[in-house]
Amino acid sequence: MHDIWNPWHGCVRKSEGCDNCYMFFLDKMRDMDGSSIFRTKAGFNYPLQKDRQGRYKIQSGEMIRVCMTSDFFLEEADKWREDAWDIIRQRSDVKFFLLTKRPERVEKCLPYDWGEGWENVFMNVTAENQKRADERVPILLSLPFKHKGVMCAPFIGGVSLREYLKTGQIEQVLCDGENYEGSRPCRYEWVKALSDECREFDVTFVFCGTGRRFIKDGRLYKIESSRLQSEQAFKSNLSFKGRPMVFDLRDSWGVPIDENELYKPTFRERCESCAMRISCNGCSSCGRCENKDNGNDYVQD
Ligand code: SF4
Ligand code: SF4
Repeated sequence: MHDIWNPWHGCVRKSEGCDNCYMFFLDKMRDMDGSSIFRTKAGFNYPLQKDRQGRYKIQSGEMIRVCMTSDFFLEEADKWREDAWDIIRQRSDVKFFLLTKRPERVEKCLPYDWGEGWENVFMNVTAENQKRADERVPILLSLPFKHKGVMCAPFIGGVSLREYLKTGQIEQVLCDGENYEGSRPCRYEWVKALSDECREFDVTFVFCGTGRRFIKDGRLYKIESSRLQSEQAFKSNLSFKGRPMVFDLRDSWGVPIDENELYKPTFRERCESCAMRISCNGCSSCGRCENKDNGNDYVQD
């Protein structure tokens, strides 16, 4: 996958979901300090970069996840966000997946011409347990976004989204167990209950992975390989494709893009048993999914 754009790096822990943040862990391994927050250099304008043939590296219709090693609405990034919005504005043909643990900051961070929201932005909040769901999802529902979703990861406590799904505003729910040092267990019954709720409201639910510690029928499973975590999640059959999300993507002239001109994801044999396929951007043969010890970068923002 090559679907991540990190305009800045580094973060400040916000809630219990951050306790074992993979960014801090990986930075420590590289002798870096995750609390040192900086604007990326070459990567900052990645969505505007072109290949040798003059085509955008990120194609029309692709979904790109933003700030996977930080939080897009981090206070320390206020001085860079306007430039990032400008890039998102220019790529009205690309879907930008935003994820935050700071929805209370979002309203004052929106650009001047936001209006009722941009069609190419898919806004998500993290809900690692019920307490955080009840804090963040109501704020999300009150905000002007065309597309909204919830990410229950790391899934460290049961979550019911029923009252929020009823509004019809939530279009996708992702969930994933925890990885890296100190992983806390995820329970099968939490995932099953959330999956059932999403089915009831015809909302896509993706169980991305079990995490390193997974409890089913009272038994604790230790699953170190992220690939195996994803395969086990796939075998559970708890993921579900609900009503389609429709993004009205436009070119730089504001003209709707023909369906045939949009990016078509390609998958490999390995993808057949991957739980993330429902929400995956497709395979770019980067090899990350083949690495048994790699991190699952869907899990945290
Ligand atoms: S990157 Fe995400 S998980 Fe890590 S500290 Fe920031 S908000 Fe928390
Ligand atoms: S479907 Fe899974 S294995 Fe295939 S590219 Fe996506 S994340 Fe990797």
